[in-house]
Amino acid sequence: MPELPEVEVLVRHLRPLLQDRTIHRVHVLRAKVVGRASTRTFTRALRGAKFCGLARRGKYLVFQLRQTGRAEPVTLVGHLGMTGRMYLLPAKARLPKHAAVVLNLGRENFVFEDTRYFGRFNLDGSALARLGPEPLGVEFTAKRFAKALCRSQQSIKVKLLDQSLLAGVGNIYASEALFRAGVAPTLPARRLTAAQVQRLWRAIRVVLREAIACGSTVPLNYAGRGRRDGLFYFGRAPGAPDYYEERLRVYDRAGKPCPACGTAIRRRVQAARSTFYCPQCQRR
Ligand SMILES: [Zn+2]
Repeated sequence: MPELPEVEVLVRHLRPLLQDRTIHRVHVLRAKVVGRASTRTFTRALRGAKFCGLARRGKYLVFQLRQTGRAEPVTLVGHLGMTGRMYLLPAKARLPKHAAVVLNLGRENFVFEDTRYFGRFNLDGSALARLGPEPLGVEFTAKRFAKALCRSQQSIKVKLLDQSLLAGVGNIYASEALFRAGVAPTLPARRLTAAQVQRLWRAIRVVLREAIACGSTVPLNYAGRGRRDGLFYFGRAPGAPDYYEERLRVYDRAGKPCPACGTAIRRRVQAARSTFYCPQCQRR
């Protein structure tokens, strides 16, 4: 499931490709992904609009568009869900089976494809208002982080997934950050010592920055066959050892040796999600 780094890399890739492109036609193939808006409303809002900006907020892609003669920009919000992908495809090419929304830009189509349809591509920006600070932004300070944690009884791993605490960290990077900080995933958030909070705050930023740097070297141009086209997964690029080595230290590595001490990595379930950790390096 894509998290902050994957979305950031995708945003950087798409931004120059979409800049100043005009949407000629809108095809909504799966009404569910456009949310509460009707297909008709969605189509009307976007047809004829020109892309003028793209940013990331948490795990969301935030597209800004302009309609000629209208002062107010149109905001289109994308979320990849579990399996969503976004890419440009030559307009002549056959659309993939799970194309959910297709925006025709002339000679190319901007495709939102999603095999499981948990992703969203809609005009509703209300989810953005509930997001906490960006972990890599200046607002996410160790002090603010400490203050938020000291009020929470939840285990620290579960708390890190709370998007109102910080935006964009999911299951993969929560496990990785806790490992790097040497903090037990089951420790209640309010029990972390000041030193642990400081280490975790730093680890979150390091892990995310590394993943972005690593992912930005992955070519994302849609070639029409590779399964990785249009998205990358940090440390998990099947069949692509040439792009980068395995980077994940604990995530999805149950039973394998801890890279720091050799102890077998363990998996446990917290709030219905898998957590991976080293029982030796993350004792408390
Ligand atoms: Zn270890």
